[in-house]
Order: sequence, then C-alpha cells, then structure tokens
Amino acid sequence: MPRMLDVSDDVRAEIGDEEADRLLAGGDAPGSYDCTSCRTPGDSDQERTSTVLFVGEETAVLAFAHATCIPSQVVPVSEEQLQGAVRSITGEDAAAPAPGAQPAPAAPVPTTPRQATLGITCGLVLIEGDLRPALVVEPDGPIARPGSAGTDDDFLPLLLEQGFHPVADMNQLPGPNPGWSALLAMGKLHAVLQPGSGGNQAAWWQAHQPLAVSDGWRAAANKAQSVLMYAAPAGSIGHQPREDLLRQALENAAAKGALVAAEMPLAGT
Ligand SMILES: [Zn+2]
Repeated sequence: MPRMLDVSDDVRAEIGDEEADRLLAGGDAPGSYDCTSCRTPGDSDQERTSTVLFVGEETAVLAFAHATCIPSQVVPVSEEQLQGAVRSITGEDAAAPAPGAQPAPAAPVPTTPRQATLGITCGLVLIEGDLRPALVVEPDGPIARPGSAGTDDDFLPLLLEQGFHPVADMNQLPGPNPGWSALLAMGKLHAVLQPGSGGNQAAWWQAHQPLAVSDGWRAAANKAQSVLMYAAPAGSIGHQPREDLLRQALENAAAKGALVAAEMPLAGT
C-alpha cells in the first residue's frame, strides 16, 4: 500500500529525488510518529502525513506532521534550534511543562539601531465565547523608525503601517493582516513571519530558543488554525503571571489607545 506521504517540491529539492522517491515508496517512511506540529501521534499508513525538513547551517532533520496540521515544507532554523529539534524528535528531551503565560527571550528587532528586544508572551483570551490563542508582544524599550535618530517610540505607528489594527475593545476579534503568519513547529513557537520580497516570508520575530506553549494554547491554535497577535509599546503590559492579569493589562492598554492587533494564520496554512 502506498504511504500517504506528502513531499513538497521544496523538500524534494533539499533531500533530492532519490531520497524523496524512497520515502514515497515507503523505504524510510516513519509509520507511526509524533506530529511535529501538534505533538500527538500520527501514522503515515493511516492518514495523510507531511514531511517537514528542518534545515540548519550544517545539518538538516526530516520530521513528520499530520497534513491537517501543517503542509510539507522546509523550515529554516538555527543550528542550535536544530539540535534541540533532534533531541525533541528522538525523545531525549524531557518535555518541560509549559506555563500558560511565559515570557520568552527573543531576538533583537532587526530594524532598530538601538537593539530593543521583543518579549513575547503566549496566553489565551476569551473573545465571543471562544478561547483564542494570543501572542502578546512588548519591546523592552522604545523602537525607533529605521534610519531615525530620534528618541520617539514608533513601535505602534510602524505596526499600524504594516497592517495591524488599533484595538478599542478586547471583546472583538481583531481583523486579519494578510501575509503575516505564526510559525508553530514541533509544538513550539519559532517565529512570526511577515511578507518579504518576491512573495517569500521573512521573520519579523524569531526565537533564540523556540518558545514552549501550553497544551491548551497549542490545541486552541490548531483548532483555530490561527493566532491573535497583540502588540503594545514598552512598559504598557509587563510580565503578567496569570491570564486574567494579562487580560486586564491588555484592556488597560486598549483603553489608552496603546494596543494594536491582528489575526494571523499558522505558517503554511
Ligand atoms: Zn498534528
């Protein structure tokens, strides 16, 4: 019986026709696996399965996911992340419990000369009766417009120009921001992607270490196939240890006109 494997053209280009054909013929196909996106078991004999190739600077790792979770694709990662992925895929990594709201160390914003760092917190927000997975982004300092020598914080104006919407009411679902997406892979948040040149996506934010999310957050993201990203200027949200406090901080920021948001799909969906 042919395996129900999807090998995308870009994965095929990376691994070569020979390996791709061997996979499709069932040679190295996984049979049962843990889905690299939702982390629940899958079986390439029973359900459509996507091949996902994580490519680092020196090595690459082939992983598998439910086709309903993410399509077959190549995911560029740092070598460090790849080593973590290998441990995760081979099960050597004892999964740490992920708190509901956890601030993450994050990469510097590439466009700012002052190298402010974006903190990202994952939390669930209740909107129109549904628990929605949210990313709350707050820099640790003012974000200057690229090329500007001023000290103004242009974080929100820049995001508004890039398609985010002002939030007046936390009970309303934010509108979409076409071209933006969130990359959730191996059960963790890897990046927030924005439209790049030539139809490709570029990382707007990329985790130094992929950000662990709670099971509830991951389940909500997989159900909605999208996440809500909220962003507020430095000093307006802070690190909130509980989701009710996070919600309150978001509502306070919205009341001050200091909150923007957008709904964005999971990358590749
Ligand atoms: Zn899955």
